[in-house]
Amino acid sequence: MKLLSQAILIILLVTLIFTSMCRANELALKAGESKNNNLLDIPAITMLPINTELLFLLTQLKQASINNQKVEIALAQLTLSQAPLNAAEQYLLLLAQAILKENTSVHGTDSINNHNNSSDVIAFLEQAKELSDQISEEQLAQPVFLQLHLLLANNYAMQGKFDLAYLEKKSYLKKYNIYRKNKRINMIASLEQSFEVKDKKANNALMESQNKLKIRRVAEVQDEKAAQQYNFTLIISIAIVFVLLLFRQLRIRNKLILLTRTDALTGLANRNTLFEHGEQMVASFTEQPEELSILLLDLDHFKKINDNFGHHVGDEVLMVVSDLVKETMRSRDLLSRFGGEEFVALLPFADSNKAKAIAMRINDKIAQYDFSSVMIQSKVTFSIGVATMADNQMSFDDLLHNADLAMYQAKEQGRNTVVCYHNIAVA
Ligand code: GH3
Ligand code: MG
Ligand code: MG
Repeated sequence: MKLLSQAILIILLVTLIFTSMCRANELALKAGESKNNNLLDIPAITMLPINTELLFLLTQLKQASINNQKVEIALAQLTLSQAPLNAAEQYLLLLAQAILKENTSVHGTDSINNHNNSSDVIAFLEQAKELSDQISEEQLAQPVFLQLHLLLANNYAMQGKFDLAYLEKKSYLKKYNIYRKNKRINMIASLEQSFEVKDKKANNALMESQNKLKIRRVAEVQDEKAAQQYNFTLIISIAIVFVLLLFRQLRIRNKLILLTRTDALTGLANRNTLFEHGEQMVASFTEQPEELSILLLDLDHFKKINDNFGHHVGDEVLMVVSDLVKETMRSRDLLSRFGGEEFVALLPFADSNKAKAIAMRINDKIAQYDFSSVMIQSKVTFSIGVATMADNQMSFDDLLHNADLAMYQAKEQGRNTVVCYHNIAVA
C-alpha cells in the first residue's frame, strides 16, 4: 500500500515536471525572442579559459563505465597542482564533484543515504551557482555549464522541492535557448562571412578573367595595328615600286622614241624626222608669204678621211661637224643627218639670201675649227646647196631635189662653196 502511494506520488510528480517543462519551454521561447536584442546589446564579457583536463574529466563523468575513484583523485590533483582556478573552473570543479556524488547515490540502494547524497549534490551545485556572477552569461549558457541546472532540478525533485526543481528546469531551458540562439546567430554570421569570402573570391576571379580578357583584347588590337602597318607598308612599297617601274618604262619609251627619231652617231634628227618636219613646214608655209629654205650639206672627199685615218676618225669628224653646224643654227631651225656624210637644215622664215648667209657662216666655222685633235692633218669642208620655196605648188621632195642640184653644182664649182638653186635655175 505504501509502495502504491509512493508510485502514484512519483507519477504525479513526473506529470507535473513534464507540464512545467513544456510551459517553461514556451515561456523561454517567448522570453528568448524578446530578450534576443537585449542579449545582443550586452557588452561582450570575455569567456574565462577552462582547463582542458577538467573538461575531459567532465565528459568522462557522463560515461557509465567510469571509475569514480580515479576521477575523484584526478579532480583532487587538479585542485592541488594547478595554479589558482578561475571562477568558471571552480564552477565546473564543483559541478564535477556534484556529478561524482550523484553517481555514487545512483549506484547505492539505501534511500536515506541517497537523500543525503542528494543534499550534498545540491550543496556542491548551490556553491557553484554562487560563482555565476563572475561568469559571463554566454559562458554560462554553454551546455557544460547548463548541466548544473538539470542536476539541481533532478536533485530538488528527489527531495520533493518541486517548485525549486521547476525553477531550475526553467532556468536551464531559458539559458539553453539563449545558447541555441547565440549558436544560430554565430553560425549565420560565420556562414555570411564565408559567403562574403566566396563572393569576394568569385568577384576577384571575375575581375581577373576580365583583366585577362582586356590584356588579350589589347594584344589583339596591337596585332591588328601591326598587321595594318605591315599591309600599309606593303601597299606603299608596291606603289613605290610600281611608280618607279612606270617611270623607268616611260624613260625607256622616250628613249626608244628618241632613237627612232634621232641619229645614233650625231644625236641629230634622222631622215624620218626630217621628212616629217619638212612636209609639215612646207604645208604650213604654202599659206603664208614668208619663205622657207633648206640647206643640203655634203662633206667634201670624206671618203679620203676614212681611208687615211680610219672609220672611227671619220665618225668623230661627223660628230664634230654636226656640233659646229648645230651651233650655227637658229633656235627655230632643224638640222638633220640625211645619210652618210650628208646633212639637211630646215630654215623657216629665211629667204635665199639669209639661207646662203647661214650656209657661208657654217663653212667659215668649219674652216676655223682646228681638227688636229681629231686627225693628224686634213682639211674638212662642206659643199652646200641652198633651195628656197618658190611657189605654193612645191613639195618637200621638190625642195630637197633643188637643194641637191645646187649642192652638186657646188661640187662642180670645186667644193667648199655654197650654191643657191635659183642661181643655177636662172642659168
Ligand atoms: P665627194 O666630195 O664627192 O662628196 O666625195 P666623198 O668621198 O665625200 O663622197 P663619196 O660618196 O664617194 O663617199 C662618201 C663616204 O662617206 C663613203 C662612206 O664610207 C663614208 N661614210 C658614209 N657614212 C659614214 C659613217 O657613218 N661613218 C664614216 N666614218 N664614214 C661614212
Ligand atoms: Mg655624199
Ligand atoms: Mg661627200
